[in-house]
Amino acid sequence: MVDMISLDMKIAFRKQGCPLCRLRYRAEQKYLFGFLWENVTDGGIRSRWLRSLGLCHDHAWQLQEIEAAHWHDGMGTATAYESFLRLAQREIIAYRQQARPAATESTDDPSAWQHLRDGIGQLLRGAQAEGAPITGLIPKAPCPACELGDRIEQRYLRWLVRDLPAEEAFRQAYEDSDGLCLPHLQKALYWAGKENPAASDILLAKSEHDLQKRLVDLQEYLRKHSYQYHDETISPAEEQAWIRVIAWLVGEKRPPEQDLRGDTTGAER
Ligand SMILES: [Zn+2]
Ligand SMILES: [Zn+2]
Repeated sequence: MVDMISLDMKIAFRKQGCPLCRLRYRAEQKYLFGFLWENVTDGGIRSRWLRSLGLCHDHAWQLQEIEAAHWHDGMGTATAYESFLRLAQREIIAYRQQARPAATESTDDPSAWQHLRDGIGQLLRGAQAEGAPITGLIPKAPCPACELGDRIEQRYLRWLVRDLPAEEAFRQAYEDSDGLCLPHLQKALYWAGKENPAASDILLAKSEHDLQKRLVDLQEYLRKHSYQYHDETISPAEEQAWIRVIAWLVGEKRPPEQDLRGDTTGAER
């Protein structure tokens, strides 16, 4: 397992973009693929998914894309999500019943018990304030794919800060990579501070160097698109500079499903 983590990282270092973003996306993709492949009807997994009401926005759409790309239908997604629709239906009916004013029972001489019951009913209905959310349809657990992604990401980050100062070949592979995006740099610095402060300077020096190059590419992009210099040749790095600056600031865009196929990195082990 240990060797595989190191190998995964070295493979990711050689690919374009932040290696941590890639490893995380790949791990989440494998989790979703595995769910569709063999866990759609697994009772334990289904009850976990029910607590989170399935997946977050991005992962739900990723699941749909994976199934369409690999199975060319939606049987797994439909099977999994049917239970959410049934739950939603039950909860909405219950919500409406709670919100509905109670029918006034006509009685000439309402008993003390009738008064008490009406009062309790009003109190209960008062708890269901106008505009209140449907509490039964608020997720009680985080998206399972996000949770897995967080766990995998943390494992790679801790490995990174542990090995950067210790392993020359590993450090060199990192130096030759595109480096970390800003969100992953911040997280790596956190783990370096906590577990191996010697990694901080390596991370910062690399980021400083990469940023200088990104800035030059971006400035060249702007300059060469101006009327005066538009006939100068623009390099591939300069042409991509306006996209790469977004990727660096907020993290990489998730690659399309077909780009993740055949990538062996990022498995949950
Ligand atoms: Zn990243
Ligand atoms: Zn998610």
